[in-house]
Amino acid sequence: MPKVPKWMANAMESLFSGMYHPVKVIAIEDLQPRLRKIRFEGDFANVKKEFIPGNVIEFRISDTEFRHYTPSYFNREAGVCDVLFYLHDKGPGSKWVENLKVGNKLNLLGPGGKIRYNPEFKIHIAFGDETSLGSFVCIKNETEIQNHQFFGIAELDHKNKHWTQVLGLDVFTVSKDESTKANNAILKLEELLKQENLNKSETSFYLTGNAKSILSIKKFLIGNGFTSKQIQTEPYWVEGKTGL
Ligand SMILES: Cc1cc2nc3c(=O)[nH]c(=O)nc-3n(C[C@H](O)[C@H](O)[C@H](O)COP(=O)(O)OP(=O)(O)OC[C@H]3O[C@@H](n4cnc5c(N)ncnc54)[C@H](O)[C@@H]3O)c2cc1C
Repeated sequence: MPKVPKWMANAMESLFSGMYHPVKVIAIEDLQPRLRKIRFEGDFANVKKEFIPGNVIEFRISDTEFRHYTPSYFNREAGVCDVLFYLHDKGPGSKWVENLKVGNKLNLLGPGGKIRYNPEFKIHIAFGDETSLGSFVCIKNETEIQNHQFFGIAELDHKNKHWTQVLGLDVFTVSKDESTKANNAILKLEELLKQENLNKSETSFYLTGNAKSILSIKKFLIGNGFTSKQIQTEPYWVEGKTGL
């Protein structure tokens, strides 16, 4: 629910107070001029749901607006959560992140969301863009814990293609192609599926980021014999649409 009247946002905060967890910004790191890592610290003892890699959290960014983000790291016991923010400077969420300062106190809502790391599969392939890099980090780290395989395809603006290296993410990067959404990513995916000779039935996909790109990739995967059970999707943004 990205936008609600102020009275409703206030009512939600008091009615569902058990789901809001007070946190403090304890570190801000600008990994790149438009890529910001923020560490939040709080008491997560009352967090009802277990955090599963791929899950998201939500913040109230103004009197009337909420935005979702994906922790790259969530440690309930230590009360620590990291998020990688893409500062695209096109909406209130991006501006809110730019203005956050160490010491700011916020309410973190969640974790929850549609995507959950599925340990039934041995091979995990993430697709996304600048907004998905936290999710990539989180899913990749889980594959290391589970002794599974990880592959990633990041569809980035040409000028941001080095960001995966900055994050130490060994994934494929392709340039965004506005006219043929996800075309470059699909070519890379085709190459990856052929080269690695991946066992199809053991492979799980996590598609996040731009809604149109997700649709194209999903269509390609279904056309190549993967089932809906193997493909988890969560659009993070849509051109021209405010909040998701
Ligand atoms: C479940 C979920 C998890 C998310 N996790 C993360 C995360 O971990 N890190 C992160 O940075 N973001 C994440 N996002 C996306 C983040 O919430 C969006 O960037 C959000 O849209 C920012 O809000 P905004 O108010 O700045 O822009 P919006 O209100 O969403 O959009 C305003 C305008 O900006 C444009 N816009 C929005 N996003 C982009 C973009 N990426 N590139 C170009 N133009 C854009 C839109 O087309 C629109 O015209 C997530 C979103 C969802 C739904």
